[in-house]
This record gives sequence, C-alpha cells and structure tokens, in this order.
Amino acid sequence: MGVKKSFSLKNYNTLGLDITAKYFIESSSIDEILGILSQDQYKKERLFIMGGGSNLLFKGDFHGLIIKPGFKDIYIVDDSPNYVYIKCGAGVEWDVFVEYCVDRGWGGIENLSYIPGTVGASPVQNIGAYGTEVKESIALVDYIDIEELSCKSITSEMMNFGYRDSIFKNNLKGRTLITHVTFKLSKFPKFNLSYHDVISKIEDKNENLSLYLVRDIITTIRKNKLPDPSEIGNVGSFFKNPIVDTKIALDIQRENPSLRFFDLENGYSKVPAAWLIDQCGFKGIREGNVGVHKNQALVLVAYSGATWQEVVALSQKIKRSVKNRFNIDIEPEVNIVE
Ligand SMILES: Cc1cc2nc3c(=O)[nH]c(=O)nc-3n(C[C@H](O)[C@H](O)[C@H](O)COP(=O)(O)OP(=O)(O)OC[C@H]3O[C@@H](n4cnc5c(N)ncnc54)[C@H](O)[C@@H]3O)c2cc1C
Repeated sequence: MGVKKSFSLKNYNTLGLDITAKYFIESSSIDEILGILSQDQYKKERLFIMGGGSNLLFKGDFHGLIIKPGFKDIYIVDDSPNYVYIKCGAGVEWDVFVEYCVDRGWGGIENLSYIPGTVGASPVQNIGAYGTEVKESIALVDYIDIEELSCKSITSEMMNFGYRDSIFKNNLKGRTLITHVTFKLSKFPKFNLSYHDVISKIEDKNENLSLYLVRDIITTIRKNKLPDPSEIGNVGSFFKNPIVDTKIALDIQRENPSLRFFDLENGYSKVPAAWLIDQCGFKGIREGNVGVHKNQALVLVAYSGATWQEVVALSQKIKRSVKNRFNIDIEPEVNIVE
C-alpha cells in the first residue's frame, strides 16, 4: 500500500475519534518496514506502532509515522503429545486466533474470547479476562528493534508481565514492533472456571464441558455486558482496577458494605474501579458527546462527534471524584497517545 499521507484514523480507533496521522502504513513485510525506518524522511518523525486501535486514546492528530503490522500467518512451530507451539502474525485479529485454537482443541486462551484487537498487542497489555491472562500462554515474541533496526526474539520469562503490564510498556517502550507471537497451548486443557457468572451459565446449559462451551458462554456474556465499538465508541475498561493496602479496602468496606474486593494475599487488594466510579454517581451519565456506559461504569463511551478533549475532560473528572471521595488514585488502562 505504501506510506499514506494525512491518513484518517477515524475507522482505526474504537473510540471513533476523528483524527489523522501525518504518515501511515500497514505492512506485512519486515524488509519494507526496515526500509521505511531507515529512510531519512521518516527517521526524524515520531513513530507509533498500532494494532486494532481498541486500547488507544489519541490526544489529537498524530504528527508522525504510524505503522500497523499486518502479518497474518499462523503456523505450528512444535508439536508434542501434550502441547502445541503455534506462531501467529501480529496482524491477526485476536478473536480469530482464539477461534482457530478452540476449533483445534488447543486450550489456554479460551477465556480471552471476544476481546477486541490484534495478536500483536496481546503481550503488550497482557490482556486478561475471566481469571486468565495471556502471559500464561505466551512462549516467545518476535519483534523488530526499532532503535537497532534488527529482528530479535524475547522469551516470556523476560517479559516482566504484570496486571495489564509488560516489558513492552516499560524498558522496551517505543522500541519494539512485534511481528509474531508464539503461544504454548495445551492439548489437554485445564479449564479456568473461577468466575461465578461463567460457572452458573455452564450449569444452566447442562452440556459436557468443552473449549467450545466456555468460548460460547464467555462470548455471550461479553456481548450482553459490553458496548460494541461498531455501535458506540469505547475502549473497554478505561481505568485499571487500583491495587491498595488491604487495610484501606477494609476501611472503605466498613462504611460501604456493598464493596467486594479481591485479596491479593500480599497485604494488598484489588478494588474494582467500576464500583468506585459507580459510587461517585457516574454510571450512565452523559456530558456532551461522551459519557459512562449505563451497565458498566468502567467503560467511557464516545458518541458521534465526540472529541478527544471531551474524553480526557470526563476521565479527569472521574479520577478527581474518586480521589476526593475514597482517596484512591485510579490510572488509565487505555494507552494515551500524545
Ligand atoms: C469492548 C472492549 C472490550 C475490551 N475488553 C478487554 C478485556 O476483557 N481484557 C483486556 O485485557 N482488554 C480489553 N480491551 C482492550 C483491548 O481490546 C486490548 O488491550 C487489546 O489487546 C488491544 O489490541 P489492539 O490491537 O487494538 O491494540 P492497540 O489499541 O492498537 O494498541 C495497544 C498498545 O499495544 C501497542 N501495540 C499494538 N500492536 C503492537 C505491535 N504489533 N507491536 C508493538 N506494539 C504494539 C500499541 O503501541 C499500544 O501501546 C477491550 C476493548 C474494548 C473496545
């Protein structure tokens, strides 16, 4: 496709914000990407790597070069009696990959069904849902080192995975263009059924437990719970669940018995940001062209015509309100691109 100029990102970010990139290219050729990165014209430009744009908040037009990796190949790199190692191109849609693995009876990522975005972004954010994080299934990541203009690999032990966190957001931030991710999946899946709503729906179905069943149930729950970005702009959870000293969580719970928090067993607890935001009265509100989803207080929504300034203003208002009421800082889960 070549590098495009003044490229509209309106259909490339799930908030649907009407912004442009000075230069944009989607490419599935390592040589082409290395060639572009070594050209003087682009060397002086700011660079950003994007996937499906489902976890991005652009603060205005991007005055630089955006590369969207398009690698779409999927192949087995090792096959043993118990496990399969499967390499997947960064540009494959995440849920297409989950379906591909479930269809073949390979377990490990079925709980991550129906999460928007691409395979290449999955290790960056260490995507997670229903008690599973992708770090449990990632073996290796292949990437272009943007500073050295060379191809490298990194194993999962080196990725410093945390809650929605990884080396790609810290030591390697801005340095990597992920081309492929290798997953280690089990041929004898162990199901992770720690969530009550998943278990109860499985019981209702009265069918044999299978990867298909888990995927089907989680997909249905998610479709009912979360707004579809093709209908209303959003990035899923806008804020991370804050981790606080358990004493603080207990103090809040004494005054607010409806609070349910998750003890992390190290003196700290994870408090649901959705509960904090809901208690501050934001659930379902609308201000101009932005608002908070009526069923899910963690999801900020952008209606037609919304601007990035409106999204930022509302998010800051929510953050201030939670701080004033509970003395807890909530931080964005969304990646802010300035
Ligand atoms: C309705 C909805 C529900 C969601 N539910 C969940 C959920 O349950 N759990 C969850 O964890 N997330 C969830 N998300 C957030 C989002 O889907 C994930 O963070 C997803 O991994 C983002 O993928 P993406 O391809 O859109 O990445 P983008 O939003 O384009 O980018 C995200 C980050 O990854 C980097 N990146 C992307 N691709 C590459 C690459 N190839 N190489 C290097 N860096 C790269 C970007 O620079 C950026 O920092 C949800 C979002 C929506 C809209």
